[in-house]
Amino acid sequence: MGSRAVDLASDLVKVPQRMYDGYIFDMDGTIYLGSDLLPGAHRLIVKLRELGKRVVFLSNNPTRDVGMYVDKLTKLGLPTPAEEIVTTVFTTTQWILQNAPDAVVYPISEEPLIRSLREAGIKISENPEEIDIVIASYDRTLTWKKLQIGFEAMWYHRRAKLICTNADHFCPFPGGRGEVDAGAVVSALEDATQMKLAVNCGKPSPVMLDTIMNVMKLKTEQCITTGDRLYTEIKMGIDSGMDTALVFTGETTPEILAGWPAEGQPTYALDRIDRLIPPNLWQEFGWTDGND
Ligand SMILES: [Mg+2]
Repeated sequence: MGSRAVDLASDLVKVPQRMYDGYIFDMDGTIYLGSDLLPGAHRLIVKLRELGKRVVFLSNNPTRDVGMYVDKLTKLGLPTPAEEIVTTVFTTTQWILQNAPDAVVYPISEEPLIRSLREAGIKISENPEEIDIVIASYDRTLTWKKLQIGFEAMWYHRRAKLICTNADHFCPFPGGRGEVDAGAVVSALEDATQMKLAVNCGKPSPVMLDTIMNVMKLKTEQCITTGDRLYTEIKMGIDSGMDTALVFTGETTPEILAGWPAEGQPTYALDRIDRLIPPNLWQEFGWTDGND
């Protein structure tokens, strides 16, 4: 990175001058990168909790149980209760409970979503004649038969609508690799039925934030969403009317931000995540850039 890039980053940094009641965080590239916490993440989360703020961590991945994120954050030195981790398993289950509690659903998904739907008392069926909602998901056990059941419920019986846990094209892996994600299942059913997806329960859809707000009992103006991707969590925050903070510790570089359209610009841009705490409080807490 040349000095021009460094200058651009410092030109673009804009920090909050106020505290919020609720803090919503993306995880990878925001709180940790691979198996390490990012600078300032530990003291930020500890301080927010000390101050009695609501903290929620988000993931679009419906194939992992919340317990796996609890373990990961705990191993990294941030013990976190399961209630503070929200994945698309939770938002999809909540969306059905709030919008179609009597619907019969067919999840094209792995076990965590099926378990969550069952525990919530939502009726699941493989019979296309009685399915009201087909749920496309990130499903590494996808089969032709599953697509066929969804297709018949939507197209032949003309009764089911299509929703999804998330619509990501692929799930990024370390080293620039990736894996096919739920977007492929959505596209397959849209193409076969020539019908459109009705609801996405994951980022960047505001459904995810609205579902969380309902549970947190906070208003959007009381909260801020922080993440490293402009087109997922930052877009979701903007579309929900919430303040947003982009961190430069993951996918988005200052160059990308500088070239991004005005309507997609975050409220704040941070070179490190603990700058979510306003400068006057940094002074009060005795924080400096060198210690975290
Ligand atoms: Mg991220």
